[in-house]
Amino acid sequence: MKTALSLIAAAMLTGLALANNQAPALKFDPLPYAYNALEPHIDAQTMEIHYSRHHRAYFNNLVKAVEGTPLAGKSLEEIMPQISKWPDAIRNNGGGHYNHDLFWKVMSPKGGGLPKGPLAKQIDAAFGSFEKFKELFKQAALTRFGSGWAWLCVADDGSLFITSTPNQDNPLMDVVEKRGTPILGLDVWEHAYYLKYQNLRGAYIDAFWNVVNWPEVAARYKKAL
Ligand code: MN
Repeated sequence: MKTALSLIAAAMLTGLALANNQAPALKFDPLPYAYNALEPHIDAQTMEIHYSRHHRAYFNNLVKAVEGTPLAGKSLEEIMPQISKWPDAIRNNGGGHYNHDLFWKVMSPKGGGLPKGPLAKQIDAAFGSFEKFKELFKQAALTRFGSGWAWLCVADDGSLFITSTPNQDNPLMDVVEKRGTPILGLDVWEHAYYLKYQNLRGAYIDAFWNVVNWPEVAARYKKAL
């Protein structure tokens, strides 16, 4: 009896130890600021619906989609470069989760202003000036027909480029035309701006610059090199 109980206790402890050692590969991080923190540029109602319903649904559906596949326990960074091998549910929800997680973190109520340091120099080198960069990024965001994302990315050789992707695709995926590491992303799905801006996607893009978290983008640039 005593032995049986010890065995059960030991099994339970082993189970706990395993659970503790397995950091969840997929996690739904808290929004790094309040829903109303980006006002007036992005309104509280849009933020609440976008984060707690849209992003949450992508995350929950991704967890379900990878369950029982060899992708279970893998990180998003491991999943994205082999996305073409998996069903659309993993592409759409995996991209949906990765893209929104990045999007929340590259914005801040203390955002705006100008990039600094090596990133600022590289933006000037790649696009001519910060103003020209904003113009080209806006163009990419405006001309993405339907739903998708605009990106500032780091290429394999360390250079910067602007691109856009449809739906929830992103430049880490092996299905896009030009691959790279995204360091800044803008969601141009209507759910990201329609309540406040209706059909005026351009006004939403212009407002975005007031909340860009440049120190975070610079940190992602450094890490990508
Ligand atoms: Mn979205």
